[in-house]
Amino acid sequence: MRAHLANTVSLAAIVVVSALFGTFVWWRAPGIDQYMRDWMIQARGPLSPPDDIAIVAIDEPSIARFGRFPWPRALSARAIDVIVAAQPKAIGVDVLYVDPTSEADDDALARSIQQAGNVVVAAQLIASPATGGPANWLLPLPAIERAAAAVGHVNVSTETDGIARQILIRVADDQGRAIRAMAVEIIRIGDGIADQSLAETPRRLLLGSHVIPVETIAPSLVIGAQGAESSTQTLRAARMTIDYIGPAGSYRTYSFADVLGGRIPSARFRGKYVLVGATAASLGDRLASPFIHQEDAGPSQHGSWMPGVEVLANTLNTILRSRFYSETPDWLAFLCGALVAALTLFAMTMAQGRHETIKQIGVLAAVIVLILLAGYLAFTRFLVFPPLTLSLVSFASAGVFGLLRKSLVASTQLDRSIEDIQRAEESLNAMSLGSAAESIARLAEAEAVAIYTLREGGRIRLVAAHGIAILRKGSGGFALPPDNNHGRELVVIPIEGSCGSNAGTLVIARAARVPSIEIQQLCAAIAGSLVEVRAEEEKSSRWWWPRGLAWKARSLSDLNGRIVDRAKFVDLAMRSVEDILIIAGVDGRITFANRRAAAVLDSSEQALRGRDLLGLLAEAEQSAPEAGRDVLVRLVVDRAKIEREIIIGGARPRHFTLRMAAVCSGEDGRGAVRGIVASLSDITRQHELQQTKNDVMALVSHEMRTPLTAIQGMSELLAQFELDPERSREMSIAIHDEAKRLTHMINQYLDITRLESGATVLRRAAVRIEALVERTLLMLDPLASERGIRLTRHLDSNVTPVIADGDLLSRAISNLVSNAVKYSPPKTEVVISARNVANGVAIEVADRGYGIPEDSLNRIFEKFYRVPRVQDVDVPGTGLGLALVREIAELHGGSVAVRSSGAGSVFTLWVPCSGG
Ligand code: ADP
Repeated sequence: MRAHLANTVSLAAIVVVSALFGTFVWWRAPGIDQYMRDWMIQARGPLSPPDDIAIVAIDEPSIARFGRFPWPRALSARAIDVIVAAQPKAIGVDVLYVDPTSEADDDALARSIQQAGNVVVAAQLIASPATGGPANWLLPLPAIERAAAAVGHVNVSTETDGIARQILIRVADDQGRAIRAMAVEIIRIGDGIADQSLAETPRRLLLGSHVIPVETIAPSLVIGAQGAESSTQTLRAARMTIDYIGPAGSYRTYSFADVLGGRIPSARFRGKYVLVGATAASLGDRLASPFIHQEDAGPSQHGSWMPGVEVLANTLNTILRSRFYSETPDWLAFLCGALVAALTLFAMTMAQGRHETIKQIGVLAAVIVLILLAGYLAFTRFLVFPPLTLSLVSFASAGVFGLLRKSLVASTQLDRSIEDIQRAEESLNAMSLGSAAESIARLAEAEAVAIYTLREGGRIRLVAAHGIAILRKGSGGFALPPDNNHGRELVVIPIEGSCGSNAGTLVIARAARVPSIEIQQLCAAIAGSLVEVRAEEEKSSRWWWPRGLAWKARSLSDLNGRIVDRAKFVDLAMRSVEDILIIAGVDGRITFANRRAAAVLDSSEQALRGRDLLGLLAEAEQSAPEAGRDVLVRLVVDRAKIEREIIIGGARPRHFTLRMAAVCSGEDGRGAVRGIVASLSDITRQHELQQTKNDVMALVSHEMRTPLTAIQGMSELLAQFELDPERSREMSIAIHDEAKRLTHMINQYLDITRLESGATVLRRAAVRIEALVERTLLMLDPLASERGIRLTRHLDSNVTPVIADGDLLSRAISNLVSNAVKYSPPKTEVVISARNVANGVAIEVADRGYGIPEDSLNRIFEKFYRVPRVQDVDVPGTGLGLALVREIAELHGGSVAVRSSGAGSVFTLWVPCSGG
């Protein structure tokens, strides 16, 4: 509400100031307004000539016909006679008959004028009283003056620019003889108005039915002999403005020679005002009208200089047609200015948004056009001189002030935004320098802590302190205040900057004991994490006036630096997280993946960017990729949180807890979804522990119970009953076998567990495979021959030695071969071969035994698994042999695989040359 009010007040102030400024210029520079008026007259263009005014021109053809001017006055007398014969309303002769010529001529003219009865003759005042020189009338010869119906002056007031715009209604000479303007006299005579019935007021002259508005500019002049009241006359310097209908030559003009030659029909003059005067350029008597373009003599010139008689015709026409322009009153002009200013501001306010500059230029141009159009209409239609100067100045100043105001408002808003960002940034920074100093004091058990930064130019500045003030000595060292110094030492620790440079100094004082090097390093790290970022912090204070551009630029670059630093820190922190962290867009495309993600997914952080998160996860856990779409729907649409366990990796699979959730713009999963965040925590270790627990449970609850129950049962029988010796021996053997099996099982289980947990250290050495296989088979030969099974060797002589633990490898081979022997019918063959393959050695054990059913193939390597098969019932075993083989193979970086058909199985043990 307050902002709204301030807005309105500032706009109103601009409107008033603009209108005042416009009015000031309008008053102080009237010349500009004159030019505007001339421009409008020219823009209006010539009007059609009036019917009731005719000019008889002493033009070039007349001079050619009658010789050089002045002509014998009898010629003028004849011309007047011809015109009079046509019965004009009045005749105005704009020719000065000052000097006597021949008596006959002068008399002839006086006679003609006398006979006409409606002729007004010209008088001219030489040297205007305004110039201070003597002012004398050039009057017609007394005889002519007497004969004339009236005498009128033909003086025209020209202004500083030389353009004749006004005439004085009445002009007086030094003797106080006042003569009215010729145009006024012509109308008076034409309308038959008596001299006395002319009424004059300060604002207008009443001439019969014509009212002439006048402008009284000079103080009134009182003329008359002192004391002679009756002859006292008050003269007002009343001016009348002339309206020109067009440039020179706009009136109906007839050549003097043609009039005298009788070539003009008398109807042309009947009932009209006929003006006789010189138009020939050689005769001078020419004035500048507003239609003249003095600067431009080219073809576009609007008109030439105007003969005096045409100026007289224009004056006459102005009065006859009442073409008097009214001035705009000052208050109305001011209002116009205010209106223009308001319109300008309104237009500027409206023209905002896209393409603002173009819009603003457009509306401002429209306002100018509107001002000019309205002015032109007022001028041409309503004969009003519009306050164009005032309006245009108001427009310009409103425009300038409006722009200034806009930039101030924008600048203030920018200040506010900067402050908001500063505050937000500060609130994000949980640790301030002050709290850092406090933490350091706590960690170092110190009473005083001071953090200094090293500024440009090597200057040191205190940025944070805690506890007693630490003083800086002139010599560059530090000290405690003398009254507070109890002999304890100060510890001065340099603070390292981001590039290993010196960023400042940390001073710890009055520590209970000197902190250890590690604590000192920790404190320096805490101080170092903040000094660089915070060095330039500047508190902003609120002030209604916007701050300077330099401040804004500095604050923005400072903020920018801090925000970039923060972003870098967050990025570093996220990349350093030990869990897998992946952030994706709403469409599931990865935008961020940390180092661990790249390591586990066998890729680089860069390469993961842009890939489909859910597709990648499906690929990693080898599940159907289509399910990804449903997961995306659940995350983004249902805003569900997903948590499940996944297994990644083929040979040595790792277990992870996958957590996925949508990142929303609002708190608690509200607002628009901005993306998806996925984290994967490695739980392989927990998984293994769980598995071990399960295995032990299985071992104890199932595998061990059976033999133990048997041992228990048989030992009970032996103890309770007297059995025959043969039977007792059998039972004792059975108990021994079961106990042996149990021991074997426990040993084998412990071996596997030790291998899995890493407790067994591999004793690696170069191992020649043929020799190793040969040695192993030697031990198995008795077992094979016992079952009538032949062990056949196919050992390449050039098998590459491998780096491996020979004992473990021998155990693995032994397990495979003994299985082949155990699970084959007698009199069959087991073939053991070893050969070089890509990057390693493959040892193959093929038998012609019972084979392994399809559905058991992928389970036989599990602990305790045994194929349920009738033929094997009596075959002793623990189900741990193959699990041990796999563990040994994997520990060496190799693998074990099996293929089996109905007739026999083939186990292949692959060991890389490097031994993993
Ligand atoms: P066991 O102590 O029972 O031999 P193993 O882990 O060595 O345990 O083998 C697991 C199971 O795989 C055996 O019980 C047996 O059913 C099957 N098996 C292993 N080797 C062969 C083979 N060469 N031919 C057929 N079955 C086999």
